[in-house]
Amino acid sequence: MTGIYVYNTLAREKQKFEPIDPENVRMYVCGPTVYDYAHVGNARPVVVFDTLFRLLRHTYGDDQVKFAANFTDIDDRIMAKAVDEGVSIRTISNRYAKAYLEDMGALGILNPTLRPKATEHIPEMIKMMRALIEKGHAYEAEGHVMFHVPSMENYGRLSNHSRDELVAGARVEVAPYKKDPADFVLWKPSSENQVGWGSPWGRGRPGWHLECSCMIEKHFGETIDIHGGGQDLIFPHHENEIAQSECTHGETFVKYWMHNGYLTVDGEKMSKSLGNFHTVHDLLGDGYKGEAIRMALLSAHYRQPVDFSLDALKEQKRRLDKWYRLTDGVEAATDVPSTVIDALSDDLNTPKAFAALDALANVETAAELKAGLRFMGLLNVDATEWFQGDAVDGVDAAEIEALIGARNTARANKDFAESDRIRDELLAKGIILEDAAGKTTWRKA
Ligand SMILES: [Zn+2]
Repeated sequence: MTGIYVYNTLAREKQKFEPIDPENVRMYVCGPTVYDYAHVGNARPVVVFDTLFRLLRHTYGDDQVKFAANFTDIDDRIMAKAVDEGVSIRTISNRYAKAYLEDMGALGILNPTLRPKATEHIPEMIKMMRALIEKGHAYEAEGHVMFHVPSMENYGRLSNHSRDELVAGARVEVAPYKKDPADFVLWKPSSENQVGWGSPWGRGRPGWHLECSCMIEKHFGETIDIHGGGQDLIFPHHENEIAQSECTHGETFVKYWMHNGYLTVDGEKMSKSLGNFHTVHDLLGDGYKGEAIRMALLSAHYRQPVDFSLDALKEQKRRLDKWYRLTDGVEAATDVPSTVIDALSDDLNTPKAFAALDALANVETAAELKAGLRFMGLLNVDATEWFQGDAVDGVDAAEIEALIGARNTARANKDFAESDRIRDELLAKGIILEDAAGKTTWRKA
């Protein structure tokens, strides 16, 4: 198979990927609303589209691929948290954007080319709303600017829901200022003590959908190659992005729409009330490895559901341990193995790519294995660092070294009871000691 094939949600089939301009391949993925830590479900599209970004760069060249992932830094949840803490929305959004970059960085992602923020695109939003009003696709009502869904002929073709179905299924909010129940908010009024920006329709703030259309137009133009996100964004978010952009420009907005499937935890929907809610921040804090989280999220094909569990993380950690041992001191091959590229080129078949890596997991092909793993965003540290890592459950490296010293003294004095006690004490803290060639080293269990 030559070339990249992707499943296009809009076409409902797998299609050969043919960029509009191979010298300027453009991909946009909806990013986080920064009001809290990202959970593992939020991290799935991040690692999925990072893998696609890597594949596109490999195929078209690093400088030929542009990838934008935004920060939604104005939202009612950010505002509520700012009020709770008595701080500005920027304090909240900066705090969680910073945590997001650190947490996702631990998952081995490449930096996107652009990380635009909603609040930096208010003039572009005003311009788009003006254009939509002028063309009869939007209207002002009680300080709101609303998109008028019946003004668009083919609304709903991405999610396959017609306007009538949406209204009948009560999937839309009813509000007195709406001309049609399916109409959605582009701009809403802010009260005196709420954050807001001046606009021709009064002081207010943007609805969520508008920012992505405006950022894409500003940074990439009217039509882009790939727009990605979680399946849950198909309706209403992506449907509304299409409505805004295509009614403004009259051009196709996106050539290939790609959506990743849902994530469950231990077979159930993840929720705070079920106690199975995992943020990446907490998992990293508990000593789980970012690379193991990445592997667990990529272990299922991106369009299928993925079931996440702490056991799965441990299993992926063992797999990575094996690969780290096998490639320790080996120089990576120059080329990424073709079996890995072929698997990913077939609609990002990551399970098949990992199977191809497993097939290379022996001494003779360790250099190819290392090249393949690095390409997949893994093996980002050296083996020593991997097996030691940072502090584990409050035990730091200096303390471990001190206990190893005490154990060596006990062994020299033939006090094996004490030597075993120290070994067990460390084991209880998740540290395994290994005695070899007259030297004691340690690693995390
Ligand atoms: Zn979006």
